[in-house]
Amino acid sequence: MSLLTFKGGIHPTCCKEFSKDSKIKIIEPPDFIYLYLSQHTGIPSKPVLEKGAEVEIGQKVAKAAGKLSVGLHSPVNGTYMGTVMYPHPLGGMKEAIRIQVNKENSTPFKEKERAKISNIPKQKLINIIKDNGIVGMGGAAFPTYFKLQVPSSKKIKDLIINGVECEPFLTSDYRLMMEKCEEVMKGVDIVRRIINPENVWIAIEANKLDAFEVMKSTSSLFPWANFALLKTKYPQGSEKQLIDAITGRKVPEGGLPFDVNAYVQNVGTAFAIYEAVYLGKPLFERVVTVTGNVRHQSNFLVPIGTPFEYLIKLTEGPIGKISKIINGGPLMGIAQSQISSCVVKGTSGIVVQNETETLKKEPSPCIRCAACVDCCPMNLLPTEMYKHIEMNRLEKAKEMGVLSCMECGSCSYACPANIPLTQQFKIAKSRITKKVN
Ligand code: SF4
Ligand code: SF4
Repeated sequence: MSLLTFKGGIHPTCCKEFSKDSKIKIIEPPDFIYLYLSQHTGIPSKPVLEKGAEVEIGQKVAKAAGKLSVGLHSPVNGTYMGTVMYPHPLGGMKEAIRIQVNKENSTPFKEKERAKISNIPKQKLINIIKDNGIVGMGGAAFPTYFKLQVPSSKKIKDLIINGVECEPFLTSDYRLMMEKCEEVMKGVDIVRRIINPENVWIAIEANKLDAFEVMKSTSSLFPWANFALLKTKYPQGSEKQLIDAITGRKVPEGGLPFDVNAYVQNVGTAFAIYEAVYLGKPLFERVVTVTGNVRHQSNFLVPIGTPFEYLIKLTEGPIGKISKIINGGPLMGIAQSQISSCVVKGTSGIVVQNETETLKKEPSPCIRCAACVDCCPMNLLPTEMYKHIEMNRLEKAKEMGVLSCMECGSCSYACPANIPLTQQFKIAKSRITKKVN
């Protein structure tokens, strides 16, 4: 079978074997939950309760605060303790709702019949998805109800369900596909009904052949689905690269998937949509891989707002001294300054590293090998952009397309001279956009 892919990319060691066989475990919640008001792209949510109020599992504790916003729901029964400033996994201190947990938790959510769901009109489905606080679970956390409102001028030809999970170490999407394939497909069916595409693709990398077969085994229930096996390569799961691999169409610079008649949704988001529509269950918990240098690499079903420290303890702790904790995978994830950061809706995994793994290699001069150019999935010239940034020629870097850099880390990974290319592009992008604003 020929495997679909895109031009460029890298082949890091997958390291999936550490956690791939760890089935999703339901955990006891910690004593306190911290729900950041800002954990989606858009306007932070607004608290709706008075301090001291009793809350129930699934109850709305903050509402959407504008057009591009969603609400927050309590993942536990407990007491609403007001808001505090707390370390955010994307950096800095952010306002968070603090809930003292009452350990008597039980789930009141039961599945409705599929036939009843098929009668719900499109706009009502979108409203359910909004009311239940669903955002993109692949990391971007963009409000899903907003993304589902495709402009009438844009016809969607290809709906692509992203089960690629190309970041090394992470296996939360893999476990969802292995254990909840039918539920994921029911969620895909809802997306399909809302956006009415010509084709539906379930896209999975070749290093997850078992998940590919499991998902494919649902074909008789969901005959409209096509199953696409992709080459194992990073960043195969990035939206633009995935569209390119499956359809051969390229999203233009500064454009959106709509512009090439494509729409991408992550498998975790499809599962959250299933839960919202079939069970009436808001997004208040998610699967998180806790892996790397810990005793038992695991996939946990985690209440949103659980501190990383608590999850690391559940793995029976780190092996040796922790040197770095990453929210997400090692290539695109964000290193944490505090172990007390908490899980947000976009947290797919936590990678713990020790000192040997984080040893900084000293950069040396560029040897003009072009490895960075060959692997850049955005067809940029990292070595040239870097030179301009070093000389403080930001305009030149901008002309060369630095703003299109998706910060995938491939060039830094490939560079034999250990030049921190991606880090410089990140800084340059932020300096350029600040100047514009
Ligand atoms: S980090 Fe940017 S420049 Fe480097 S390979 Fe990725 S997209 Fe290209
Ligand atoms: S990979 Fe590193 S050494 Fe090679 S051309 Fe790019 S910046 Fe220079």
